[in-house]
Amino acid sequence: MLKHQRDPDALPLWTYFQSVITWVSGKFPNYRKEMKGIDWGFLYNAHKDKTLDPAVLEKEISRLMQDDDVTNKKGVYAFVLDGKEKHLNIRAFSDNMKRESYERQKGICPVCNKHFAIQEMEGDHMKPWHLGGKTTHENCQMLCKECNRRKSGK
Ligand SMILES: [Zn+2]
Repeated sequence: MLKHQRDPDALPLWTYFQSVITWVSGKFPNYRKEMKGIDWGFLYNAHKDKTLDPAVLEKEISRLMQDDDVTNKKGVYAFVLDGKEKHLNIRAFSDNMKRESYERQKGICPVCNKHFAIQEMEGDHMKPWHLGGKTTHENCQMLCKECNRRKSGK
């Protein structure tokens, strides 16, 4: 630490570090242990110029923390800033759920109406997660890989 005080680079770094801390504590005043280990510098650089209402953020964070299908709770912070679902690692359908749907559909993809082997199909949220659809067997259908790709826009 003493050595760093004579380092001419230490002051700008310290100022930057303080800006990050000020931004995080201003936008996310409700501390949660999931905030540890997040790359806040990265999030600060990407979103520092946005108008963000801490009350709106907190409401969304609290809702996602209670959503059992959100398996990566740390990712909630990046998600409320950029809206990308990949941060949340939304729960995938279990093999049992997929098998049940496959049997119910008799192996037919409901989009292209062709028959497939189960390993040629993928579980799909009939009602997408972002519209409130859960990872439950009622909300699971099997689509062939091509139809699933087309539906999810990948
Ligand atoms: Zn299909």
